[in-house]
Amino acid sequence: MQGSLADEVHELAARLGAHEALVRVARELFEELANPFEGCTRVLCVQPHPDDCEYGAGATLADLADRGVEITYLTLTDGSKGTLDPGMEPRRLAEVRRREQEKAAGIIGVKRLVWLDYPDGELPYGAEVRRRILGVIRGVKPDVVMAPDPWLMYEAHPDHRHGGLLTLEAVMFSPLPLFDRGSQPHSVRTVVLYYTAKPNYLHPVDRTFERKLEALKAHESQFAHTWQTFELYVRVLAAAYGGQAGSKYAEAFRVLPALLLHASALSQLV
Ligand code: ZN
Repeated sequence: MQGSLADEVHELAARLGAHEALVRVARELFEELANPFEGCTRVLCVQPHPDDCEYGAGATLADLADRGVEITYLTLTDGSKGTLDPGMEPRRLAEVRRREQEKAAGIIGVKRLVWLDYPDGELPYGAEVRRRILGVIRGVKPDVVMAPDPWLMYEAHPDHRHGGLLTLEAVMFSPLPLFDRGSQPHSVRTVVLYYTAKPNYLHPVDRTFERKLEALKAHESQFAHTWQTFELYVRVLAAAYGGQAGSKYAEAFRVLPALLLHASALSQLV
């Protein structure tokens, strides 16, 4: 069987080049590339700040929740600096944003909220945060972990870059028993990255798109002042991906089978 697959790839590569041949084989080997949520029962959506899960994936998460998927949000920072108001107290803002997040999560249908509460803008890149994310992954035991794409080239917010990277590192270490021996290893099947410029999967969201907007609106401290412009942007983005996906609206993701998260050029090709 392996021999015949190698022959098949060899023949394909001779005609199409090695990369195209590998992409085609990867699509056969990893069915989740066609639909990462097929058969999934638990999703862990990691967000640097309150609002990122809804902004990046809210309509998809609402669709999954409606289909009985158990969704947990892991919020890495307290969101305490997300304001243009110089008179705002960071501690007060963190409390406001927590309440907004609870309300928004209720609209989406999220079962559980976990908070790591690092100060906004100061999520450290290192072993401690990675260990804490690993602990949450092993506790929740998700099939799918979602996170912001840390390789979004011009992402300037360090919490987004660090949070995305640390989540993927934790997913990679989670099956290995010698990492953090106190908890049971768990293998995540698939990673789904939101805020990506390299989508390889579009999720049609016609039924739940307005609920995403409603959930975003619950983050009053973030979007109330600029709601009209913001709503237009979110709608235009989803309409563009919808046009490509054959629906009115769609959300775009980069899907990576967890097995490709280390030492594989396929992660970049698929
Ligand atoms: Zn954010």
